Amino acid sequence: MNSQIKRLVQLLEETHGLSDEQFALLLTAEDDQLSACLSERARAVREKYYGRSVYIRGLIEFTNYCKNDCFYCGIRKSQPSVSRYRLTEEQILQCCAVGYRLGFRTFVLQGGEDPYWNDDRLCGLVAAVKTGHPDCAVTLSVGERSRESYQKLFDAGADRYLLRHETADPAHYRSLHPEEMDAANRLRCLNALKEIGYQTGCGFMVGSPGQTIGHIVKDLQFIRQFRPQMVGIGPFIPAAGTPFESQPKGSSELTIKLLSMIRLMLPSVLLPATTALGTAEKDGRERGIQAGANVIMPNLSPADVRQKYQLYNDKLSTGEEAAESVAKLRSSMEKIGYNVVTDRGDYLTE
Ligand code: SAH
Repeated sequence: MNSQIKRLVQLLEETHGLSDEQFALLLTAEDDQLSACLSERARAVREKYYGRSVYIRGLIEFTNYCKNDCFYCGIRKSQPSVSRYRLTEEQILQCCAVGYRLGFRTFVLQGGEDPYWNDDRLCGLVAAVKTGHPDCAVTLSVGERSRESYQKLFDAGADRYLLRHETADPAHYRSLHPEEMDAANRLRCLNALKEIGYQTGCGFMVGSPGQTIGHIVKDLQFIRQFRPQMVGIGPFIPAAGTPFESQPKGSSELTIKLLSMIRLMLPSVLLPATTALGTAEKDGRERGIQAGANVIMPNLSPADVRQKYQLYNDKLSTGEEAAESVAKLRSSMEKIGYNVVTDRGDYLTE
């Protein structure tokens, strides 16, 4: 490998950061061995902190109603063809009970920004999950809310919150969202979540329309400075019926390279091999884990609503019951030398 590139990988591992120019060089270098080298270093770092454990999070997509109109998203408000659903608290608790028996110790409640789930209802739900499973973590992923709302949900027992920043460039953010949304509010939310004490996750889509290498460099610098406990990245995949339906999908190779780079930047970060990566590539989750990811988020939503939570085309949803897919996941991880563990899988302070 080119010695300058090799030095940059070393520098990233040792100092956990690079200059804009250096990041751009790593992102654009056409060196066959670079991804393999990044991946090897990222694996070594993840093993130092997390061994060969893979944490699983039970993803419950509990509502696909949304008041937002993000241009990329398949459940945006203006989507004509989406059949809308909202699980009841009872159904959600049932998903948790099934998940608990399968070894899940974190439940991720994800949904559109659905006004039905106001603070009272959502706090009640969080408290009910925590009462039923006091040894489990609850992660929320329900978009932008007020600081007071985040505080109430935290007080009700929520442990973690996923809110991707989507892009660290305000003009690019503007081009992905309708006018009512802006990057400044997203940042306000992320800062509030972290200050309140959530384990907080940010992240972005790789290859979102209009994204440049310069934007990705900004995303990396933002992540370095924000120091999230979790980072979610996956390739952009067009969703039929959205303004971006004809845009090309993002690169899986670049996503995998970025997973390794993020592991080197934040050695103990909780880093999922995302559903989008698993959708884009048959072995995407395995490749993500081998490149430094340490989390997988299998779907615990009832089989009959899964095809209605189509954030993008052909989103991975096999129709398998959760038990079957977890058994398969365990064996596919074992084949590459990793173990799915029954553990809350909290963030390790470095
Ligand atoms: N309403 C919640 C959950 C959004 S879905 C929120 O606002 O956080 C979770 C993530 O899916 C989004 O943050 C986005 O980055 C990703 N996503 C949405 N549409 C996508 C698409 N077409 N391709 C790939 N990822 C997408």
